Amino acid sequence: MRRADMIARVEQHHGPWDMVVIGGGATGVGIAVDAASRGYDVLLLEQHDFGKGTSSRSTKLVHGGVRYLEQGNIALVMEALKERGLLRQNAPHLVSNLAFVVPNYDWWEAPFYGLGLKIYNALAGKYGFGPSEMLTRDETLARLPTIKTDGLRGGVVYYDGQFDDTRLLINLAETAAEQGATLVNYARVTGLTKGTDGFIDGVLASDQETGQAWTVRARVVINATGAFSDSVRQLAERDAQPLMAPSQGIHLVFNSSFLAADSAIMVPHTSDGRVMFAIPWHGHTLVGTTDTPIAEPTLEPRPLEEEIAFILETAGQYLRKAPTRADVLSVFVGIRPLVKSGDGKLTAALSRDHTIHFDASGLLTTTGGKWTTYRNMAEHTVDQAADFARLAERPCVTRTLNIHGFHSNAERFGALEVYGADALAIQDVTRQTPSLGVPLHDALPYTGAEVVWATRHEMARTVEDVLARRTRALFLNARAAEAMAPEVARLMAIELGWDSSREASEVIAFSTLARGYQIA
Ligand SMILES: Cc1cc2nc3c(=O)[nH]c(=O)nc-3n(C[C@H](O)[C@H](O)[C@H](O)COP(=O)(O)OP(=O)(O)OC[C@H]3O[C@@H](n4cnc5c(N)ncnc54)[C@H](O)[C@@H]3O)c2cc1C
Repeated sequence: MRRADMIARVEQHHGPWDMVVIGGGATGVGIAVDAASRGYDVLLLEQHDFGKGTSSRSTKLVHGGVRYLEQGNIALVMEALKERGLLRQNAPHLVSNLAFVVPNYDWWEAPFYGLGLKIYNALAGKYGFGPSEMLTRDETLARLPTIKTDGLRGGVVYYDGQFDDTRLLINLAETAAEQGATLVNYARVTGLTKGTDGFIDGVLASDQETGQAWTVRARVVINATGAFSDSVRQLAERDAQPLMAPSQGIHLVFNSSFLAADSAIMVPHTSDGRVMFAIPWHGHTLVGTTDTPIAEPTLEPRPLEEEIAFILETAGQYLRKAPTRADVLSVFVGIRPLVKSGDGKLTAALSRDHTIHFDASGLLTTTGGKWTTYRNMAEHTVDQAADFARLAERPCVTRTLNIHGFHSNAERFGALEVYGADALAIQDVTRQTPSLGVPLHDALPYTGAEVVWATRHEMARTVEDVLARRTRALFLNARAAEAMAPEVARLMAIELGWDSSREASEVIAFSTLARGYQIA
């Protein structure tokens, strides 16, 4: 994928696109894959980088959602479990099977969670990841060596999926491009145009790199901007009633010693009635999350002090070595695109189902859902969009469509496993220039070859794109990421022809951002 080629396609396009998608997160990129693979002519515009919004900030689980089972939402759980199975089938290089242990400290927990998790696995049917099992105290400790032993009776283990959210997103963008979609990052939609009949017939967009303005015509415009959906709806109708009830969730990342295991911990009931996870992720321990209603979404949401304290306290209730603020390597925050229920319910109780909504202007907004169900959400959205735009009916093919990088045994690529089949080409970069094979920081595995690869082939445009979303340095260890920034900028300057002042300003911009992921 090259941004210059994508822009040339936008500028040379004749007539209306079948579909223009606003937003380059899981929802928008999933729609681009679905629409292009059906043969529709689709353009996607993202105001910042792909995945800058919530889709880089998830808990990294491909899951049915044990909590929704408890809420009695069987249909949602079954759908998500099926999608979990399809995603592992179509992107085996990115989705792995992870054991989750629910530790039991009260007598009633083993039968209660044991039965619930049996049902959870049964609902997956042929898409199951493995049967749940009761564990003795010793078996629980063998799986979770760092857990508190006082009062520990045993545990229940069940299996769910884990992934790297923005690696999948970039691979989906590449899949969409291979299927014929045009996708542009740093292209903000600033307005919607209407035809003489009053219906939306296109968008006004601005290239955030050059300031160039584009008017783009479309048979249907799809608003896939997640928590930002209402602001785009209000470009069409200033008085559009808000649909969204955004809520934020934070994660804290620690070194691997806090978990020291291949299994994750699942706490089904925190003191605020939520589920909390501590999971091994890219050689670190990731703990989250919270659910705090917010007034307005922003691209860089900030953690609240009480959210940090809550996660530290809850982790300390389960781990022998209680983590402190000084142990936090990174804190990141995401905003849930929850849809209002109208009765003032807590956001934790609001539906995780997706919602497809048409405004009177014909703008289609698709939001809610979760990463795990992006494919199904895209299928429903494209069905509705094609009907509305009177496009020829074409069947969805994504249930069996391999995602870019598909490789059944990618673990053979070691630290490059998440790139799947692309790992070979990255190894070639190192073969040609061996100095690029050296990790850029002692604490993380990322090399110069990955920087070069992301810049040449994955539309990385800034140091942040490389350190936050092409690699996961910022999310794993914000100080290490900050230390890597000058070398990343130097390599990108060579690839993109930056002058020294651009190179320096990239480092400053990234350092400022990275400080927001560190806590004192
Ligand atoms: C804390 C947390 C943990 C989660 N954990 C999980 C999990 O473990 N598993 C799971 O399945 N799901 C999880 N989810 C849910 C999942 O992450 C989201 O449902 C999903 O990422 C939403 O994707 P999206 O594309 O709708 O929104 P986003 O990723 O936010 O994308 C919307 C995009 O629209 C762009 N945009 C906005 N305005 C404009 C404009 N005017 N022009 C162009 N572009 C624009 C934004 O820049 C943004 O990139 C979690 C969510 C949160 C908040």
